[in-house]
Amino acid sequence: MADKYLNLVNSGWGKTTAKKLGLPKPAHLRRYRPGAPLVPGPVLVLGKTAAADGVAATLLGWDLDVRRHADPRGKYGAVILVLDEVAHPDDLAAPVLEAATAMKRLLPGGRAVTISRPAESDNDPATAAARQGVDGLLRSIAHELRGGATGNGILLEGGADAASPSVAGTLRFLLSGRSAYVDGQFLRVGGNDGAIPADWDKPLTGKVAVVTGAARGIGASIAGTLHRDGADVVVVDIPHAGEALAEVANGFHGTALQLDITADDAGDRILDHAMSRYGRLDIMVHNAGITRDKLLANMDESRWKSVLEVNIAAQLRINEQLLKSGKFAESPRIVSLASTSGIAGNRGQTNYATSKAGVIGMVRATAGRMPEGGTINAVAPGFIETEMTARMPFATREVARRLNSLQQGGRASDVAETISFLASDAAGGISGQVLRVCGQNLVGA
Ligand code: NAD
Repeated sequence: MADKYLNLVNSGWGKTTAKKLGLPKPAHLRRYRPGAPLVPGPVLVLGKTAAADGVAATLLGWDLDVRRHADPRGKYGAVILVLDEVAHPDDLAAPVLEAATAMKRLLPGGRAVTISRPAESDNDPATAAARQGVDGLLRSIAHELRGGATGNGILLEGGADAASPSVAGTLRFLLSGRSAYVDGQFLRVGGNDGAIPADWDKPLTGKVAVVTGAARGIGASIAGTLHRDGADVVVVDIPHAGEALAEVANGFHGTALQLDITADDAGDRILDHAMSRYGRLDIMVHNAGITRDKLLANMDESRWKSVLEVNIAAQLRINEQLLKSGKFAESPRIVSLASTSGIAGNRGQTNYATSKAGVIGMVRATAGRMPEGGTINAVAPGFIETEMTARMPFATREVARRLNSLQQGGRASDVAETISFLASDAAGGISGQVLRVCGQNLVGA
């Protein structure tokens, strides 16, 4: 559904009126287009460590205009703050204050990215304080940015090298328009796993992907995006949605599998279909999901059980069948749809929030059981413009749309871009995590 307010405040008199009245002024977000520049201007890399040098070298390798000192008159497409060696909160002052000068000069759709290490309980307390400090710093920067600019952080886990393929891949995702609606988030990038794709615009070439619930909405967008990025795609949905499903598949010469994912043998049937049509399966996207909202006081068995069955029990069964088969084994990827309701809870959604929190628990516990090179992650969308949210009452919808740092709802394509990134070889160092695609929603965690 079109966001008429966003269009209004970005046009002639609407712009002036919004400014005069102090109304929110959401910006048109910079979204990915194959072949478009990665960032809208020069990239400033701040930090004096070997990691900062490594990051600058990576960016130069991508032919970006890289600067190492903030020029008060410069304009920047991105500011990268490398803080991997901070050992005391005092160490933050100099780089952060240098970054402050540049933040004022960030171009519309720009990016602020921190690269640091996670605070662990066995760190020296001053080191842990400095590292955890970056968390508050980055999330506050993200709240302060305007003009569709976003701020996100990379946490180098377990000695990960800043020049590793996975760190490079994550940085590229965060700088690009693919992460337009990802804001105020941290991604832990571990080890030195992952691989740089031969073509950054076709990172899924040669892969076979399955997307459930793909007859419409976010699922259809995920399927189209995985195909655009080079994958062969199998779309799955209930037989009742067969016609719409066939249309989605025909849109990109994919194949359709009519299947209720709650069937006992759903995992085996998905695998049989992928093997017989394409001879392999690399990417499993669990997108199918349902809501049956009611206050807990009015909850009945059917509402509770159906939501838990579709949103989590079916995924557990499918994963078990895929992993047991031995055929889903060459650096496989599983990406599952959670929700911000599963993180913060939501009134009237005890069943849904339980199922989506369950997805997060499943993902964390399955990470260590994936075959070598394999990863599993969850994506938690916030307010996304879909048929579901178009049906919300006007006032509730308007409030929900504006209550995030980007002051607008996300698009199905924003969720799809994030899933495509997590499904790629370049995200090989990211596993067991939840990435929110919510524009830094102000409600909840
Ligand atoms: P949607 O209702 O538009 O589409 C869901 C699809 O799943 C439908 O095509 C439906 O037929 C299919 N499906 C349902 N049960 C199935 C089953 N048993 N077997 C196979 N297919 C089945 O939903 P959407 O808004 O596109 O959401 C997609 C996912 O994103 C869901 O998991 C949802 O919980 C999650 N999500 C959505 C939002 C949002 O704002 N729309 C926010 C957070 C999370």
